[in-house]
Amino acid sequence: MKLKLHWQILIGLLLGITLGLISRPLGFQDFVVDQISILGTIFLRALRMIIVPLIFSSIISGVTSIQSAESFGRLSLKTIMYYVTTSLLAIVVGLFLVNFFEPGVKPGLKDLLGFEKMPSELEATVQNLDETLLGIIPVNPIESMARGDMLPIIFFALFFGFFITRAPEPYRGQLTSFFQGIFEVMMRLTQFIIKFTPIGVFALMAKIVAQTGPEVFGPLGNYMLVVMSGLLFHAFITLPTLLIIVGRINPMQHFKAMSGALMTAFSTASSSATLPLTMDAMENNAGVSNKVTSFVLPLGATINMDGTALYECVAVMFIAQVYGIPLSITSQFIVVLTALLASIGAAGIPMAGLVMMAIILRAVGLPLEGVGLILAVDRILDMMRTSVNVWSDSCGTVVIARTEGETPFTMVGQPAE
Ligand code: ASP
Repeated sequence: MKLKLHWQILIGLLLGITLGLISRPLGFQDFVVDQISILGTIFLRALRMIIVPLIFSSIISGVTSIQSAESFGRLSLKTIMYYVTTSLLAIVVGLFLVNFFEPGVKPGLKDLLGFEKMPSELEATVQNLDETLLGIIPVNPIESMARGDMLPIIFFALFFGFFITRAPEPYRGQLTSFFQGIFEVMMRLTQFIIKFTPIGVFALMAKIVAQTGPEVFGPLGNYMLVVMSGLLFHAFITLPTLLIIVGRINPMQHFKAMSGALMTAFSTASSSATLPLTMDAMENNAGVSNKVTSFVLPLGATINMDGTALYECVAVMFIAQVYGIPLSITSQFIVVLTALLASIGAAGIPMAGLVMMAIILRAVGLPLEGVGLILAVDRILDMMRTSVNVWSDSCGTVVIARTEGETPFTMVGQPAE
C-alpha cells in the first residue's frame, strides 16, 4: 500500500531535521549545507517554474467561469473583506501579547543581543515602496511575467479574463477553452512536481537545521515565544472559529486536506512557492471550484499574510521595548495600520516580512537598524508565519466557497474519506 503524500512529507521533514541535528556534532554540516541542499534548490526551482503560467491560466479560466460583472464584484469584495479582517485580528492578538508579556523590557537586553548587519535589500525596499504600490499596474505585462512579479500579473490576468467574457464569439469560446486547456496542463504538471515534495522538504529542513545552532535562541527566546503563541492562537483559535461559524467547515478535516501544503510552507518559508500545492489541495482535497480557488489563492498568497502581519507588530513593539522608547496609543495604532500595509506589500518569499518592517519603523520613528536585533531568529519565525499565511489563505478559500453556495468535502457532516 502506498503511503499518503502528507505522511511522506512529514517523514521527509522529520528525517531532514534529524540529519541536520546530527550533522553538527558529527561534523558533516558543510556536506549538508552545500550538497544535500541542492535537492531542495531543485525542488524550489521546479515550483517557481510553474508559478507564472499556473496563476495566469488559473485566474483566466476562473474569471471566465464567473458569469456576470456583478458576481465578479461580489467575489472581490468578500475576498478583500476576509483578508483585511483576518489580518487585523492577527495584529490585535500580537499587540495584546507583546504589551502583556513585554519580551523586550529587560535591563541590558540590548547589549546581550548581537547586532547583525542588515541585509542590503532592506534599504532598497524602503526606497522602492511607492513604486511597489504603483507597480500593481504593469506597464509591460510580459516584463512582469518574466520577472515573476505576482501583483501586476494578477492584475493583468483578472482584466484579461474578464474581457474574454466580453469578446464576441467565436473568440470568446476559443480563448476560454484555450486557457482552460493550459490550466489543465499546468495542474497536471503541478501534481507531478508535488510528488517530489517529501525529498524537497527533507533537503530544505536538513540545511536549515544544520545552519542554525540552538545558541541563536538565547536572549531572543521570550520574543520568539510571544510571536509563536500569537501565531498559534491565530491558527488554532481565531481561524478555526471563522471556519466553523461562517463556513460550517470542519477545521480538523480542513487541516488534514492542507497538511502537505502547510509542511511545504513551513520548509520553504515562501507562500508563492507553496501556491501550487495550496491550489491543488483546495481543488482536489477540499473540492473547491476553480472559480473560487483561482481568485482567492493567488491574490491571497501575495497580499493576505496574517502571520506576517502579527509578526510585524510584535517585532516592532519588541524593538521599541529594547530601545526603551515607549510607544503611545496613537503610535501603536499607527503600528497596527502600517503592519497591515507591510503584510500586504510583502512578497510571498523568504524574509520579505523582515524587509517590509522598515515601513513601520519609519512610520513611528524607530531606528531602522533595530531590525538587526531580531535577524538571528528570523528564518525560524519566517517558517512559522508563512505556514499561518498559507493556512489563512486556505481558510478564506473554503469560507468564500461556502458563501458562494459550494459544498466543500471538508464541511461539517460530510463523510470522511
Ligand atoms: N515568507 C513569508 C511568506 O512567503 C513572507 C514573510 O517574510 O513574512 O509568506
